[in-house]
Amino acid sequence: MAPTDRIAYYNGRFIPEREVLVPFRDRGFKYGDAVFDTTRTFGHRVFKLAEHVERLYRSLRYLRIDPGVSQEKMVAITEEVLRRNLSLLEPDEDYWVTQRVSRGLDPSAREMWPQEGATVIVECVPLPLRERAALYRDGIRVMTPSVRRTPPDALSPRVKTHNYLNLIAGGLEVQAQDPSAWALLLDTAGNLAEGLGSNIFLVQKGTLFTPREQAVLSGISRETVIDLAREAGLTVVEKDLDLYDAYNAEEAFLTSTSLCVCPVASVNGARIGTAVPGPVTRQLTEAYCRFVDFDFVAQYLKRLG
Ligand code: PMP
Repeated sequence: MAPTDRIAYYNGRFIPEREVLVPFRDRGFKYGDAVFDTTRTFGHRVFKLAEHVERLYRSLRYLRIDPGVSQEKMVAITEEVLRRNLSLLEPDEDYWVTQRVSRGLDPSAREMWPQEGATVIVECVPLPLRERAALYRDGIRVMTPSVRRTPPDALSPRVKTHNYLNLIAGGLEVQAQDPSAWALLLDTAGNLAEGLGSNIFLVQKGTLFTPREQAVLSGISRETVIDLAREAGLTVVEKDLDLYDAYNAEEAFLTSTSLCVCPVASVNGARIGTAVPGPVTRQLTEAYCRFVDFDFVAQYLKRLG
């Protein structure tokens, strides 16, 4: 597949992706003054699109950005972007599909670029299945950097903004020590918060624990796992958790749109549990596969070759 063939939506038009050229004076580029949301496809079927677009609009409202497009229209545009690009995928590949909305251009930039209002982009890109395949065999090595997650009284971590510098800085620190480890940031009180693009769950005595939504992005896959766990009769507790809880967990896993459910092998070098994945992680992985009617673990593992 030639990536240059992909079509994206850019301010009202469906055009080749390579022609989407955002002015460098766009506030999204200058200040990170933009929000986004990303879902994926499973076997070419889009996952919880309405929920993702709903979260996008919550992020927009928090930052008082008017996208100039209704929520229903954003769903329809996203479906259309997928419709125009799915034929470019191999049958066993899937897309990440993302809406991006910046506040647009400052008035002084409009002489050069006559754009009023928000910049709206909807685009898709194949999932990095090969790069992540080994995580399902070995589990993720998680490390906590010294950089703390932005506290809600500075900027709500529930908002999915185009500024990931806080999480990126944490990731850089971790990768300088272990290039294949994933950063899990603590909050300013020392509680577990979240990763660059994932939420964390711990399992202790058959009960699931995960940080409170106030301090993290409320992942759609996090929510999906909570629902599936409760349906299976498991107890889920949202509370402050620290490294003591992590080191004493019987199992841990991360959730995200692309990972769905992926086991954690260690935290700061301390092994978690005895098997990867542990029994509860496996049970929830199977429930997730049933829910999306797609074996995402097999999709990753077949890339190990
Ligand atoms: N936390 C952060 C900071 C994220 O960027 C993401 C990815 N969107 C998540 C958690 C997981 O959210 P979701 O399950 O909706 O992908």
